[in-house]
Amino acid sequence: MTTTALPERPRMGTPPPAGRRLVLRRPRPLLVRLYAALLSDMGILGAPARRRGARFLGRSLPAAAVVALGALVPLRVFEVPLFGWPQIAAMAVLAVALGALVWRRVARAAAGEAAGYREQLELGAMFVVAAYVLAQSAAAGHGESPFQAVVYLVMAFLVAFLARWVGAALVGLAVALELLGWAAHGARGAELPDAVVRSGFVLVFAVLYHAVLAAQVAASRRDERLAIERRMKEIDQLARSFRLTVAAPDDAAARDERDRRWNEAAVIEIEAAVGGALEIAAAALRCHTCALFWLSDDGKELELYDCRSPSEAIAAEPFPAGEGNLGAVVKQKKPLRLHGDVKGASYYQDGTRPGALLAVPLVAGRGDFVRGVVVVDRLEPEPFGDADEHLLGTLAAEILRAVEAERVMKDVKQSDAETRRFYGAIERLNRTHKQAEVFDALVDVARGMVPVDLAAIVLREEGDDRRLRVVRVVAGEHVKDEHAKLALDGHAFTVEEGLVGSAVRMGATLPAAELDLARTPVFGAVGLKGLASLKIVPLKVGERSLGALVLGAIGRHAYRSDPVRQLEVVAMHAAQSLERAYLFDETERLATTDGLTGLVNHRTFQERLDAHLAQALRYGKKLSLIICDIDHFKSVNDTYGHPVGDQVLRGVARTLGKDARTTDVVARYGGEEFAIVMPETDTGGAMVIAERIRERVGQLQFESDQGPLRVTLSLGVATFPDDGKKKSELVERADGCLYHAKRHGRNQSVSAASLRAPRRIAG
Ligand code: GH3
Ligand code: MG
Ligand code: MG
Repeated sequence: MTTTALPERPRMGTPPPAGRRLVLRRPRPLLVRLYAALLSDMGILGAPARRRGARFLGRSLPAAAVVALGALVPLRVFEVPLFGWPQIAAMAVLAVALGALVWRRVARAAAGEAAGYREQLELGAMFVVAAYVLAQSAAAGHGESPFQAVVYLVMAFLVAFLARWVGAALVGLAVALELLGWAAHGARGAELPDAVVRSGFVLVFAVLYHAVLAAQVAASRRDERLAIERRMKEIDQLARSFRLTVAAPDDAAARDERDRRWNEAAVIEIEAAVGGALEIAAAALRCHTCALFWLSDDGKELELYDCRSPSEAIAAEPFPAGEGNLGAVVKQKKPLRLHGDVKGASYYQDGTRPGALLAVPLVAGRGDFVRGVVVVDRLEPEPFGDADEHLLGTLAAEILRAVEAERVMKDVKQSDAETRRFYGAIERLNRTHKQAEVFDALVDVARGMVPVDLAAIVLREEGDDRRLRVVRVVAGEHVKDEHAKLALDGHAFTVEEGLVGSAVRMGATLPAAELDLARTPVFGAVGLKGLASLKIVPLKVGERSLGALVLGAIGRHAYRSDPVRQLEVVAMHAAQSLERAYLFDETERLATTDGLTGLVNHRTFQERLDAHLAQALRYGKKLSLIICDIDHFKSVNDTYGHPVGDQVLRGVARTLGKDARTTDVVARYGGEEFAIVMPETDTGGAMVIAERIRERVGQLQFESDQGPLRVTLSLGVATFPDDGKKKSELVERADGCLYHAKRHGRNQSVSAASLRAPRRIAG
């Protein structure tokens, strides 16, 4: 329970932050700029001449290399049987230039810089020249080159990766090189067809490749568009199945864009609520399958909406709603719990028979209208309990309410900003799993929707339904009276008192009209001075109120009816989240503890031992395990009766719990056997605790009709890693020690180390 100050909202019209000044620059006329650019490129104007010259040279170098090497191609300098020095030098220059350009591109790409046209052109042209040089040198002076195809492939590759007009320019370059080569070789008529054919091939390769690429891009765009359309249709279909819309006329143009956005938002919200609910059910109820089936409009078929299950056999197609276990739930509108070899789980297509099943109907309206069924099952015959049914019922109500909330909201006219805020709020509340987080989220959300100078959350007390307590107060800085704020925090009163009591009792938003707050008792007898507006919104789960959200504002007429209707929906979500948080904790507690002693149960013991062993292994620490068993317990039962036996079990469990440290895990291992996991404890430490426990249990005295009785305890201790590196080994060793203690007179602690030594501490 805390009191927090509201942060100040930013005001409109604040001046821009100091320290930043706006500088205006007048643009220079175009001609002046062009002239300056030219001079600067020629190195006549601007920065110091040497640096400028170097930069100009650096920038022109690639183009110069391309032109120089390109000029060698028509001259056919490389078409010789044996390379001389000039060829080798030219080859070296080509390799260096190509390497430098590629290296520059890679470096720029790594810096996230795309290639400009100039760079593309330089790089592409260098590749074209290199391809020709390769082809010519392979021809080695005897006519047609075996590597001519490389030129075509390089062209195709460049066209695919470079800008369209750069590709065109490179094709032009290749054609030019062919024709120049022909001209430089004496322009013989007989050689012209060859040059033309090769130019033609270059062109055809480039064009074909470009066409294939364009077709591929178009196809993938079309696929993408189809996928989007399919998803939109699905959303529409879902929205209809939830009765948010009547089937709209098929004329797509007539469909209102706004309606569509509403449906989308609604379906997304419902999907999230259903997904979240199933997620929680699956985790908390440890089930095999957890599924929601929706009833068709005519009530004749059930259809899967969503499920969490490793089974592949869950019916994806609609099936008759009158059959099997789910049919019974639909008909009777009541939850159903079965265990053993459950027949009639008609949602499995392969006739799977679960070991336990729990199904809850989604009942809308005033309990007369079934919308669907939520079902969970387990393969092993571990029956579902009351708490499980309660949790699933709550989740079913949550799913239904998500649908209902959408319908309420559809009626309220919204601005986009309000809509977004509203969905954001609901989403945030659906995400929260801890009570304190729900309080914070609810107050935050309310502040975003209406003026709030004072907010309070009131809840029914656990164990006493008629008492209410203020669990959270948040006051804005305009609320002057600090004492009043503090006094309110934790304040308790009954549901018979004050306006808040009435709102909770009646499950209604109060007050309906404005009233004189100076004279109205609000929180029990406590009123609210200094505020002019008040709204109390109940936190309802179904028909029951868990408490209320109380909002106050200094200004008059602060609470208009539209935002208040939204707030009611938000409050319902908050209530559901609170209930869920509570139930989740409770279910988890029930699932992990033993009902008789309140200690950790066997399954959880195994899990915790696994976790602690993994830690011990990782950090190279020791870990000890004690397993103990009450001596001659059967005779306690036989002599004093089972209820007294139970009492002894509870007493021993309490002693174990007290003597263990907070980091230890104390578990009921079996009937009258207990186990203690002690992280970071060696055999010596464990034996000290074991002995202490043995002595304390021996001192316990239990009362019975046949007079007082005492029991003794035998204990076995094993330590990781000395006595076993694996869990099974460790448990076996501790068990062996316990057995040894039993065989050697009982009422003693035996460690694995002492059996090895051999030395043992006897009681
Ligand atoms: P020992 O010293 O060798 O352990 O003798 P013992 O009689 O304790 O041995 P045994 O393990 O055979 O007896 C265990 C008894 O514990 C049998 C069973 O009736 C009793 N028991 C197991 N669970 C409970 C329980 O929840 N309540 C009660 N009252 N008795 C239980
Ligand atoms: Mg025993
Ligand atoms: Mg036993």
